[in-house]
Amino acid sequence: MNSISSQDLYSWYRQAKEMAIANQIDPDEVDWLIKTITNLDSLSLRLGTWQKQPQINSAKSLSELTKLWQQRLQERLPVQYLVETVFWRRFQLKVTPAVLIPRPETELIIDIALANSLISSDQRHWVDLGTGSGAIAIGLADVFPTATVHGVDLSTDALKIAQENASSLNLNNIHFYQGSWWSPLNALQGKVTGMISNPPYIPSLQIAQLQPEVAWHEPRLALDGGDDGLDDIRYLIKTAPQYLVSGGIWLIELMVGQADTVVSLLIQQGEYYNPQIFADLAGIERFVLAYRR
Ligand code: GLN
Repeated sequence: MNSISSQDLYSWYRQAKEMAIANQIDPDEVDWLIKTITNLDSLSLRLGTWQKQPQINSAKSLSELTKLWQQRLQERLPVQYLVETVFWRRFQLKVTPAVLIPRPETELIIDIALANSLISSDQRHWVDLGTGSGAIAIGLADVFPTATVHGVDLSTDALKIAQENASSLNLNNIHFYQGSWWSPLNALQGKVTGMISNPPYIPSLQIAQLQPEVAWHEPRLALDGGDDGLDDIRYLIKTAPQYLVSGGIWLIELMVGQADTVVSLLIQQGEYYNPQIFADLAGIERFVLAYRR
């Protein structure tokens, strides 16, 4: 723990905000950084009351803070990676560049699963394919406390973070597995009551055009969905019926412009019924759900 004079911290804070504005970065990110590394809250930052305290306890020294902020400005490192923290639903999760930063819009996938689940036995098995930080698996374990949640990822580095997140929240009904999609889940064939995934869905050539925070720093494995972005979604449509129980849910996130195609693919496949599209809070068609026949 470092003790920083509040005057020094305040002048650092003003300067960091100016640099943010000059670099087209939201100056509120500086508040976010300060809140995460000190015990100051939003209100004392807004009202400036903290300047009356002589010293502020901080997890980082001023020079470490400066280094972090340089990385934000020059390397466009997302602020969530700087502080290795994201707030998602009611959880504080650890994130590093080994995992995609869970997005606010993805929070809704948990509510959609909860509102549309037809199967209510205690024997429920939920699967989160491509779990990354473990966010979706954790959200499911939270709203379905009597179910078992299975999170799968190809990346062992991502799984370490997911495991750390689940352990620090004391969620014991989640198991994590390393492997490609369903491959570690042989024993669950015909038993899965819900499959959820936020698969890679960005068309390969579009990745370079995303904001540098995403394109330069987030794992390509979590973003790149092949030529039309639908490679992994097609795979999940084809393979899920072998694992889902009748009436089980197939539910994924996707990007603008993909939902109608995915609904057609689900119908063509023949083993799903009642496909539905859900918008996110910005009104963008963001999720597709269907039931296993
Ligand atoms: N939603 C992410 C983005 O905006 C993409 C995540 C994904 O491909 N699943 O970049």
